[in-house]
Amino acid sequence: MYGLHLISFLDSSWQKNVFLLEYCQKLSIAASGRNDREHQKTAMHTVATIAYDHPKALTNMDQEAILRARENKCSLFSCQEERGWGRRLARPNSRLISASARRGGANTDKRAFLDATVQVLNAARAFYVNFFLAHAEKLSERVSYYSEKHLEMRERAISANELLTWAEFHTVETKEHPLVYRRSVIKDAIGKVRAYLSNRSTWEQTGKKKGKPGLPGASNHPSLYQGTIELTVGEADQHERFVRLKVYTGACWTWVNYPVHSSCYFERRHSEADWEQQSPKLVLRNKTAELHFSQTKEIRAKKVKESKADPHLVTVAVDLNVKNLAMITVRQDGKIIETVFVTDRGLDHHRYRHLKRLAKKQWLSGKPVKGEHSNQQLWQHVRRMNEDAAHKVARIIANICAKYPGSVLLFERLRKIKAKGASKSRRMNRRQANQLRGKINQHAKDKAFAQGVVTVEVNPHGTSQYCSRCGAKGERFSILRGKRIKAKWGKLFGCPVCHYEANADLNASKNVHCSFYREWHWQPQKKAPPQAAPSG
Ligand SMILES: [Zn+2]
Repeated sequence: MYGLHLISFLDSSWQKNVFLLEYCQKLSIAASGRNDREHQKTAMHTVATIAYDHPKALTNMDQEAILRARENKCSLFSCQEERGWGRRLARPNSRLISASARRGGANTDKRAFLDATVQVLNAARAFYVNFFLAHAEKLSERVSYYSEKHLEMRERAISANELLTWAEFHTVETKEHPLVYRRSVIKDAIGKVRAYLSNRSTWEQTGKKKGKPGLPGASNHPSLYQGTIELTVGEADQHERFVRLKVYTGACWTWVNYPVHSSCYFERRHSEADWEQQSPKLVLRNKTAELHFSQTKEIRAKKVKESKADPHLVTVAVDLNVKNLAMITVRQDGKIIETVFVTDRGLDHHRYRHLKRLAKKQWLSGKPVKGEHSNQQLWQHVRRMNEDAAHKVARIIANICAKYPGSVLLFERLRKIKAKGASKSRRMNRRQANQLRGKINQHAKDKAFAQGVVTVEVNPHGTSQYCSRCGAKGERFSILRGKRIKAKWGKLFGCPVCHYEANADLNASKNVHCSFYREWHWQPQKKAPPQAAPSG
């Protein structure tokens, strides 16, 4: 979905020579079906990306160059062009890069400002990390307080906020570090030093010589607290939206506008009251700059044990496969009430064709050089195709769950389909397909949980071998030219006892319900040790 976006806006940045900002979506926290604590919050990560037409040359820029860039943009570009010319000439798109560089590109110094901001804050963080390491005893200080709950004076570890005020009191504010950024840097440093100290103490307890934790580094993605960022969402046209950031220009701190393009998902969550938004982080990458927003929401979901007691419970079972990506069946009161069949629309074959080409290229180029990545664009295409399909299938599953509030989503615990195959390309394709199944599982879990639907992973044993109607062991077959052929790879399933015949994936999907309700073959074993019993 956003893969396409990315390409189109990169293209336009070549033409118009302006830089654009894009948000894309990432789901970061998984909600598992069991742990109640994890149930309470689910977080969505929104990423804002800034793309530049001449990015790489500017990443390692020092303060002096920034100043020069502000005075005279052209001189900077000519010198960079000279340095980079020889290497780039060999690449087919060298003309594009250098052409846009000669014209200067719009707002390239804005990127430089971001780099300078990160550098200044890193320096400040280094100072505070050293400061706290020198005052390690302060971090482990105990403070006494009056507990309202226990109605007595108690002791607890010093909190980060108290440390913050203490550090602010003992250090001096300089022109380079205005108040708001200073607070965020100090908080970062506290976290880093605390983590280091606790790691070191556990290491000392083990008494090993190896594995001494290293001193904490100073670099981090700076958090943009209130007072350093202004973002308006929900107004104006998407293409004319800006985010105002307080950045360091090499001499002073100023407000600079950066254009923003946000996705509908980000805005929807931004406008909804129950989504809580946290301060974004500024993440600078080689080619892009991103703003990462964490958005969280409290979700109340019933425990699976409680919903299992409901006699009219709706269960949504999903069987994931390679070519028929997902077979979704909905069951209530022992009856299947809805069946949805999602095919991959040729994705498997499409991917296979690309991988065949990749395998051939790899074979031709021989042993790969260590640390060098080849065929990056093709791999990226395959990866994005997979990611796109995973999100789409997961959305279909989540939409079905949304139709039945209070339902339970069932997945098989994923088994690995072994990457067997005659050729390397087939093995690679199978591996990709396995990854795709894992991604669908993960995304569907996240998306369903955002709607309050809990996911349960059931025991997958025998779901494709036993009859979903009577529980007898059946056989796989296929019909070729009107003849019934018994084979392991057969697409159909037949039961010798009740003569039930169906698509093998449909049968497997129905069996997932049986496995959840512990019917037929999935009954809890008597006298079995507790860890061997199938968990639900
Ligand atoms: Zn049967």
